[in-house]
Amino acid sequence: MRDQIVAGNWKMNNDQNETQSLLNELKKYNKPEKIRIIVAPAFTQLSQSVDLLKDDIITVAAQNMNLAVSGAHTGEISVNMLKGVGVNLVVLGHSERRSLYHENNLTLAGKVNTALEAGMEIIFCFGEQLEERKSNRHFNVVKEQLSEALFSLSVAAWSQIILAYEPVWAIGTGETASPDQAQEMHAYIRSLIQEHYNENLAQKVSILYGGSVKPGNAEEIFSMQDVDGGLIGGASLNSDDFMAIVNAF
Ligand code: PEP
Repeated sequence: MRDQIVAGNWKMNNDQNETQSLLNELKKYNKPEKIRIIVAPAFTQLSQSVDLLKDDIITVAAQNMNLAVSGAHTGEISVNMLKGVGVNLVVLGHSERRSLYHENNLTLAGKVNTALEAGMEIIFCFGEQLEERKSNRHFNVVKEQLSEALFSLSVAAWSQIILAYEPVWAIGTGETASPDQAQEMHAYIRSLIQEHYNENLAQKVSILYGGSVKPGNAEEIFSMQDVDGGLIGGASLNSDDFMAIVNAF
């Protein structure tokens, strides 16, 4: 049985007071024990969030980290800084990092290694742009993203990896991949893992879908065989919406 996971990517939203209110609201809900629930606040709110959630099953992830472990990287945050505030999970490769901050598959392969060596778990994001889907290149793009960033890893390292397929055209646009489109890609991703590694590993890796998941569409998407949960942007900023999605399994 794979982990079922709902993760909220807060992006550059929620200051200290907003973080406190949202987390206090989330803490009040009864939560299904079998679902892993994760929130990814901004760097400046990580310590506060870990503290506020210490008696809750919700865990805290960072949205990014630097490739280097320390040194002359003004304005950056290292893996050990994250671990130092109790964060053991990091989102890497989000499409906004790729498009706005020029992160590519090779940079990401390096970040994945840095995170793994420090014992971190990773939510690794990838997915095609609209033109790539329109020109029927989406499978090749995803294959390249995974091959270049992850397929040199050992089988053992995959116990620290959660995949998040996020078609870029569906992120923050209100346009969701249909459940069939999500299933088709998730099954393809599993087939790639099987080809490069083995069937056992392919069946173990959790693959989340991300892209305009809302309370109204989560159930249908999560019911697909190879979809193990969601990475949620906009809807994770509202406690009722986020928990409705958590309860959509
Ligand atoms: C995201 O940012 O990863 C995301 C999926 O955003 P949204 O849910 O708003 O489309």
